[in-house]
Amino acid sequence: MMFTVSVFNHFALDESMSYIRPFDPWKSKLCTCPFKYTLNVYTGCDHACIYCYITSYIPKAFKVRIKENLLLEIERELRKLNKRFIVSLSYSSDPYPTIEKQLGITRKALQLFQQYNVRCMILTKSDIFERDLDILKNLKCAVGITVTTLNEDIAKQLEPNAPLPEDRIKALKSAKKAGIPIYARIDPIIPYLTWDDFEETVKALSFVSHITVSTLKLRPDSWKRMKAKFPEVMEKLEPLYKKNKPIGGYYYLPKELRLKILKEAENIIESKGITFGSCREGYHSYPTCDGSHLVPL
Ligand code: SF4
Repeated sequence: MMFTVSVFNHFALDESMSYIRPFDPWKSKLCTCPFKYTLNVYTGCDHACIYCYITSYIPKAFKVRIKENLLLEIERELRKLNKRFIVSLSYSSDPYPTIEKQLGITRKALQLFQQYNVRCMILTKSDIFERDLDILKNLKCAVGITVTTLNEDIAKQLEPNAPLPEDRIKALKSAKKAGIPIYARIDPIIPYLTWDDFEETVKALSFVSHITVSTLKLRPDSWKRMKAKFPEVMEKLEPLYKKNKPIGGYYYLPKELRLKILKEAENIIESKGITFGSCREGYHSYPTCDGSHLVPL
């Protein structure tokens, strides 16, 4: 049975919990996520992805800040958490920004998760998590990476401060070797850019159990950054994105084109024996959109 965000919000939300919060997918009508909590260990993210949407609601979003008393606070919150539900790291940041290598705050948070028997999911664009496999393998946890393209030049332009896709993939292979359930996101799919090597990207990720995809959704600020960095691509995309009114504040590709891309993506992914998920698309997924079915009970 799938518990959706709206069904459980009324009792899972404890107002005294300020760091571990029910995941609120920007109130998107197209979100199909099961209920889960989310924790952003840091405020902001220095991967500085061109298409990132956190810049629309977090001031100075590409500057990473630590949170006061985070470990003390989350320990207090973990004591009252409903352990049936998953805590996901993270949706408005990355649990492994560059500074995590020195500070190890995410590592300490994972140690607390182990102590309190918390089910969790990690999603990152970094390879630093390889350092924490000793903890992750003893947790009820699934680990995922996001890869948008295998093309290093394009990846460096899209995600300037994130480790290269090849290094993320290598780290995820180590997680698999350690016996940890693993998944990936190919998100966003950008026509005329990352969609061109989508099949190769899936091939490079064919060792994972589940892949979630999502087409590019634009906010006014990410639209501007995309236009400045990829003027030729945006010349082709702008007329498409201008066709429809935004959905929940995000501009989408026209529905027919979106569904065509998703269908093709689904076929490619499933042909490799990997389960398929789609994120905020109003399209189906199996068994879950976000890969949360991989987290052990
Ligand atoms: S990794 Fe995620 S949160 Fe960080 S800049 Fe990129 S898209 Fe934004």
